[in-house]
Amino acid sequence: MKKKISIVGGGSCALILGCELDTQKYDVTIYEGNSALARKFLVAGDGGLNLTHSESEQKFILRYTPHEFLEKAFRNFTNKDFTKWINSIGIETYVGTSGRVFPKKGIKPATVLKAIIKKIEANNVSVLYQQEWKGFSGDKLIFKNSGKTYEVKSDIVIFCLGGASWPVTGSKGDWLNYFSSKGISAKNFEASNCSFTISWPEDFIKKSEGKVLKNVSISCNGKTNLGEVVITKNGIEGSGIYPLSPQIRKQLSEKNKAEIYIDLKPQIAQEKLLQKLSSVGEKKNFSESLKTELNIDNTVLQLLKSHTTKEGFLNINSLTKCIKEFYLTITGTGLVEDAISTVGGISLEEITSHFELKKLPSHYVIGEMLDYDAPTGGYLLQSCFSMSKYLVDILKEGSRRER
Ligand SMILES: Cc1cc2nc3c(=O)[nH]c(=O)nc-3n(C[C@H](O)[C@H](O)[C@H](O)COP(=O)(O)OP(=O)(O)OC[C@H]3O[C@@H](n4cnc5c(N)ncnc54)[C@H](O)[C@@H]3O)c2cc1C
Repeated sequence: MKKKISIVGGGSCALILGCELDTQKYDVTIYEGNSALARKFLVAGDGGLNLTHSESEQKFILRYTPHEFLEKAFRNFTNKDFTKWINSIGIETYVGTSGRVFPKKGIKPATVLKAIIKKIEANNVSVLYQQEWKGFSGDKLIFKNSGKTYEVKSDIVIFCLGGASWPVTGSKGDWLNYFSSKGISAKNFEASNCSFTISWPEDFIKKSEGKVLKNVSISCNGKTNLGEVVITKNGIEGSGIYPLSPQIRKQLSEKNKAEIYIDLKPQIAQEKLLQKLSSVGEKKNFSESLKTELNIDNTVLQLLKSHTTKEGFLNINSLTKCIKEFYLTITGTGLVEDAISTVGGISLEEITSHFELKKLPSHYVIGEMLDYDAPTGGYLLQSCFSMSKYLVDILKEGSRRER
């Protein structure tokens, strides 16, 4: 008789598991709380479905905090492997100017999902909807459907319940206690890839809410990232700041505030900038000359003016410092439910190198429900795909031998 694998949570991880688990050998069922699969995968597609990133393996793996736990799984199924895989099911991809990988223009996220679901169906995997996992009963899983609870015994269980952002997609993160009851350490969720709180001067935010600081370089706690920052009513968000989420969260927890420095003109070295400012200083309309000579836009100009005294703004030494090391204090993060991803969930210390719970053999945990961090840019989905494929290959071997 075939062994039974129960996959709990039908999100991004379950997509690869459903397509790739060996159904000649295993009887596979996905239990999903929603009435459809992979709602968050579809939400991720709202602004363009960024499936993975095209950068080198060496750079790629270092995007994760921590990265060691993912290394074997990523090397086993890299960004290139995933791209080949998605191409093989009829979804063509292209690499954007930022190096991010997307479905070819015109292919909608729903079409990508449809192609994957077709493969899951062809693999004879059962998908049960509106089955909410409610915890453990001895060695069985408890599910609730239409107000009634029932128990399921499995040979192998794969949990992929996601994090806690965008709970409307079904990933509510309300299962931490079920694991704690088994002595498994599970941490509360925190927002990542989220907005960060800054108290802006009233004058500045009135004029600049929604504006974007383009091509700036931001540093926090020794890490620097180049990108865009969107100015929001209560702070900042965007691709320039998201990768610094771990550093910002660390400072916030240690000092109740995080300090960031923005280089508003990273393309110009400090000395060169000082020289340019000296010549601008001789011109009549200083602000206008700054815009034309230094290619500084109105948002940057407003930012500088609102955070300096008149004397400081007109002093080229202090202005140079201000442009190259613009200082801001972050006092908090946005809400977990609004974040793109979360950290927290099952502690990495609780799993083996092949994602098996040390205290609950034959029970595996993968995806965003594990406590690790990744920036936007396709890294979140790739980590889910790599972990899922690694597990598929481990289970194909038919042993729980570490690879
Ligand atoms: C707005 C937004 C944009 C994003 N954009 C990108 C992007 O462009 N690129 C990228 O790489 N990543 C992106 N992400 C992140 C990415 O979508 C997630 O990291 C990824 O989907 C996580 O996969 P997962 O399988 O771990 O969890 P999920 O995909 O969240 O799946 C978990 C599943 O478990 C189910 N579930 C939860 N609890 C229960 C329960 N008790 N019983 C039964 N089922 C349950 C849920 O309904 C859900 O279907 C984005 C996320 C958001 C919110």
